[in-house]
Amino acid sequence: MIGCLTWFSAIVAGQDALNVGPVDPKIAAAISQVSATRIQSTIEKLVSFQTRSTLSAQNTASIAAGRGIGAAREWIKSEFESYSRDCGGCLEVKTDTFTEGPVERIPAPTEITNVYAVLKGSDPESAKRIVVVTGHYDSRNSDNLNVTDPAPGANDDGSGTAVSLECARVLSKLKFPATVIFLTVAGEEQGLNGSRHFAKMAKDGSWDIEAVLNNDIVGGDRSAQQDTSVVRVFSEGLPAASIEADLKLIRNLGGESDSASRQLARYIAEVDRTYDVGIKPALTFRLDRYLRGGDHLSFNQQGFAAVRFTEYREDYNHQHQNVRTENGVEFGDLPKFVNYDYVAAVARLNAATLASLASAPAPPGKVHLLTKELQNDSTLTWEAVPNAAGYEVLWRPTTSPGWDHVQSAGNATRSTIPMSKDNVIFAVRSVGKDGQRSLPVVPVPER
Ligand SMILES: [Zn+2]
Repeated sequence: MIGCLTWFSAIVAGQDALNVGPVDPKIAAAISQVSATRIQSTIEKLVSFQTRSTLSAQNTASIAAGRGIGAAREWIKSEFESYSRDCGGCLEVKTDTFTEGPVERIPAPTEITNVYAVLKGSDPESAKRIVVVTGHYDSRNSDNLNVTDPAPGANDDGSGTAVSLECARVLSKLKFPATVIFLTVAGEEQGLNGSRHFAKMAKDGSWDIEAVLNNDIVGGDRSAQQDTSVVRVFSEGLPAASIEADLKLIRNLGGESDSASRQLARYIAEVDRTYDVGIKPALTFRLDRYLRGGDHLSFNQQGFAAVRFTEYREDYNHQHQNVRTENGVEFGDLPKFVNYDYVAAVARLNAATLASLASAPAPPGKVHLLTKELQNDSTLTWEAVPNAAGYEVLWRPTTSPGWDHVQSAGNATRSTIPMSKDNVIFAVRSVGKDGQRSLPVVPVPER
């Protein structure tokens, strides 16, 4: 119970408990193992396959020749397997293969394979809870149907693939109560096909995915105007999976900025304040950039919390372009434009977030705000979850972007705050015995 006392003292001591969580020395040590050199060799290896177009070769000969998406897939698999050997077989390396097409941008039936490694949770109950990091290993050039010319995809999305692999390498040395999945998908450039299949498989299998971190274009392109101190974190406002009743509630209560994905984005900001990762998340309150999409949407559509990490400033000459020089301007997604220290910082932020979530208890169950009577106090109730040492109530003014206030509720499942529910937005989170925080849950009104 010492951990409990430490945590309650921290609350009493002030607001630090809200802005900075307790540092877990094991997590701090693990993220310090993230290596820009390893990330560089991963990205250079991915580029060496010439093209990773989802429509490119994946037969035995192409794999032997080290060319095409089949060769990339086999290499990623072998990397996960080598990390697993280094941790006594702690990772289960799996593939999710299916056939897609003919559909738009996939003219003939094509086998698509997602490759992933599962670090199963050490606690039988908590192991059902899953956090995911993902990147897409397919690439493209100017012509989305071209399968032979170079499509290096160093930044888009060799960088995100390298983040998944590097997180697997450093976190597989630890054990967490909950399960972590390190995912790399294909088919992103054809229409999010790989992630859509994986997210649907998870939904159909009733997987309890709490968070998905999608890294797509996190290379920190070396253009003069790049800001290497920040990475954008995009999160949806209105959940893509909302039904009309959900939307009605959101409209009535001002819940437009409180999707589960947005709570995840705020959680990432808190993790960033807690661990020294070397980069700041610029929380961006929209699903994605104009005219662009990504694999987090596939998870959002199935009702999972998912966000997208993307470098601060993109250079469009270095994405989806044939490798060439025109009037002295270089085009193409080449390794020389990638800033490996930047990718490493993004990987540390991802790894710290995954580790924090996988160490924490589940979010509180069935969080309700009692609204039966008109009163100026606000009473919240929730259901206890395994491994929680206590709970905290968070709140903020309706205009505030992040949680400004926290109050411990002890180990109770009910709390009354002397403040009108009409003036603020509330949430409740679980706290583990060493102060690990779950994602916060915004209450539903109970009459
Ligand atoms: Zn991409």
